[in-house]
Amino acid sequence: MADFGTEDWRNRFSDAMMHTIAPPLAMLVRGEGCYVWDDEGTEYLDFLAGIAVNSLGHAHPALVAAVTDQVGRLAHVSNYFASPPQLELAERLKRLTGAGATGRVYFCNSGAEANEAAFKLARLNRAGGPRTKIVSLHESFHGRTMGALALSGKPAMREPFLPVPGGVEHIHATLGALEAALDDTVAALFLEPVQGEAGVIDLPAGLLRRARELCTRHGVLLIIDEVQTGAGRTGAWFAYQHDGTQPDAVTLAKGIGGGLPIGALVTFGAASELFQRGQHGSTYAGNPLVTATANAVLGTIERDGLVANAARRGDQLWDIITGLGSPLIAEVRGRGLLLGVGLTEPVAARLAAAALSRGLIVNAANESTIRIAPPLIVGDAELAEFERRFGLALASI
Ligand SMILES: *Cc1c(COP(=O)(O)O)cnc(C)c1O
Repeated sequence: MADFGTEDWRNRFSDAMMHTIAPPLAMLVRGEGCYVWDDEGTEYLDFLAGIAVNSLGHAHPALVAAVTDQVGRLAHVSNYFASPPQLELAERLKRLTGAGATGRVYFCNSGAEANEAAFKLARLNRAGGPRTKIVSLHESFHGRTMGALALSGKPAMREPFLPVPGGVEHIHATLGALEAALDDTVAALFLEPVQGEAGVIDLPAGLLRRARELCTRHGVLLIIDEVQTGAGRTGAWFAYQHDGTQPDAVTLAKGIGGGLPIGALVTFGAASELFQRGQHGSTYAGNPLVTATANAVLGTIERDGLVANAARRGDQLWDIITGLGSPLIAEVRGRGLLLGVGLTEPVAARLAAAALSRGLIVNAANESTIRIAPPLIVGDAELAEFERRFGLALASI
């Protein structure tokens, strides 16, 4: 039982775990700050942060204290009851998203669930008559459940599971396609401000603002998926705030919980009135444990100025990557601490493996892109160590 010899755990993993994902890269047993350690004592600099989840890094004192305190007080109640951390988090999210007084928050347990809730919200948009269509982008990623799969612009991911909920049209991220697709038959437009899973692809300049104008004109709900970009990661609390755009709804998860499973749908203005009592819900959603933890995460991000840190460290990281001068690097994309390193050759998987063997965790978002998303607490020492280890990995390819 206690033996975690390398081959032993790999075989046990294969025998016990459903084969939904690739074999794991290592067996991690401990983390602190921006570092994690595996079962053999090897240290890794974690510049993926559980895919933009560990906002405060690992074992942050504020996270540990919040979980410990709340689990010893009250971990879960049903939706028949309220709890102080739940209310505090809802009010905090209304304030941080800019949804303000007319905003409302629905809690759930993951990004996919937040988008499922948003999908149902979209179906309730019947302004001016029936609206049969939902518009989303090619290459987008909104999660793995059936509704979220229908929204996602990745046909191969959807194919084995057809039929998925209908009425979703996928378009390219261009102003022309947007203008052609949006009319009074569309219930909602789903957008990611930066397409993380597609390979850290930025939206074309001006697209979000134009989307806002067209959605307002046609009564379409503008629903922004900030599951990966939210909670300060791009150097703003939410990426739509860079453009001064206000959505009708925003979906959240990943970074707001700092490692505990939580998701949220935040609505703005009239969209807050669409759901009626009894139309949606979830047993665990917004329980005291996860909401107390999210309050600690977001409170720490606020108190320690980590949104500004994400902007500043992101700029530094950008300079470090381009400064490496590797002929393998074609470009850097993204914003703040969500960066994509576009490669001149499809060797991202090999490069990520080379980085891992030099004690650096980054991720191959697609065959020619390395995704980098360190904890928001990252500082000079970690950036210097990243430069050294990533430089070695690049040189080895
Ligand atoms: C990760 C992600 C999701 C899905 O979140 P889960 O918590 O894995 O269900 C949805 N949208 C975006 C943009 C994501 O990055």
